[in-house]
Amino acid sequence: MSSVQEHTPMEINRWSLAGTTALVTGGSKGIGYAIVEELARLGSAVHTCSRNEADLKNCLQKWRDSKLKVTASVCDVSSPSEREKLMETVKSQFDGKLNILVNNAGTAIFKPAIEQTMEDFKLLISTNLESAFHLSQLAYPLLRACGGGSIVFISSISGFIAWDNLVVYASTKGAMNQLARNLACEWAKDNIRTNCVAPGPIRTPLVDFLVQDEDLLAGEKHRVPLGRLGEPEDVAGVVAFLCLPPSCYVNGQVIVVDGGRIVNGNH
Ligand code: NDP
Repeated sequence: MSSVQEHTPMEINRWSLAGTTALVTGGSKGIGYAIVEELARLGSAVHTCSRNEADLKNCLQKWRDSKLKVTASVCDVSSPSEREKLMETVKSQFDGKLNILVNNAGTAIFKPAIEQTMEDFKLLISTNLESAFHLSQLAYPLLRACGGGSIVFISSISGFIAWDNLVVYASTKGAMNQLARNLACEWAKDNIRTNCVAPGPIRTPLVDFLVQDEDLLAGEKHRVPLGRLGEPEDVAGVVAFLCLPPSCYVNGQVIVVDGGRIVNGNH
């Protein structure tokens, strides 16, 4: 038998996540909800979390009806002790093995720089950045136990370009992009790949104010060459790709999913 046949058996489906386990934070709404569904449809057993138990229960019912393998627990990712508890739950649920970590939970506070308080700053750092770092640390032994895996951070195009009223949020996302690059290099020896997905404006509850404001929405559509806001599924597909075997040589990258918004010079 040739070595090629030995190493690439035809029966392995490179576009399936069957037999894998995943943790997706913030899966009760928006982008996280779509990521949970995308990974579960590809065959992964997914655990997710958010702060609101009633929302999670509703989601779990929908996922059960769709025959998707999803579990959930309440966790505020801004709290170090709740992060530890979350990873203990994941560890016992998946027998100490995790293939995929998606650090998606995040929030924004829209204010001019001068009005952002130290409380705003601490909340954004702990929710968006510290949680992504700490959960990656906590997940590391579980990822290693699988012989490697994939970490995906959901950052934002605001990590590249300045938006009005988003100075602290944008800083957490810029830092997250570099966090991914560093982990990508440090943990490559363990066969753990780390990448970011950086969305432009996506139609979720987080940006309801934009969707509801006709002028703002028209301005945004004008800036996006594809002429529309993104949908959560547009992001979820790219996240899934970064977790699948065909992306096995993609490491330390920030993949922008914005309909061409930040490369558009025509606005
Ligand atoms: P949503 O507000 O629609 O959903 C956020 C999800 O995260 C919810 O499930 C929410 O549940 C959960 N969440 C929020 N804070 C916490 C917390 N402290 N602990 C645990 N769970 C939490 O946001 P999006 O789907 O729009 O955003 C998801 C990610 O994508 C964020 O990191 C955001 O920065 C990023 N992003 C979004 C863009 C957009 O235009 N929508 C653009 C670029 C990036 P609950 O509130 O009940 O806890």
